[in-house]
Amino acid sequence: MKIMCKWCNVSMNCHIVSEEVSEHNGTYGIDSVKMAKIKIHKHFKGKNYCKGSDRIITTPIDKINDNKVHYQ
Ligand SMILES: [Zn+2]
Repeated sequence: MKIMCKWCNVSMNCHIVSEEVSEHNGTYGIDSVKMAKIKIHKHFKGKNYCKGSDRIITTPIDKINDNKVHYQ
């Protein structure tokens, strides 16, 4: 699977480390949202490792399906 690295803005390989359920106060009360922890694989930006290398980010699982995960 792929994720859009926000530091180099290029689609990078990644994998899911773990999954968890988090609760949000939504419009209709408390929603439980399945979240995935995703590890971005090591990659270079120019000659150096990108800041996104080996970084673990958390994102809702339903946003992963389009193969281009964006995150904050
Ligand atoms: Zn990067």
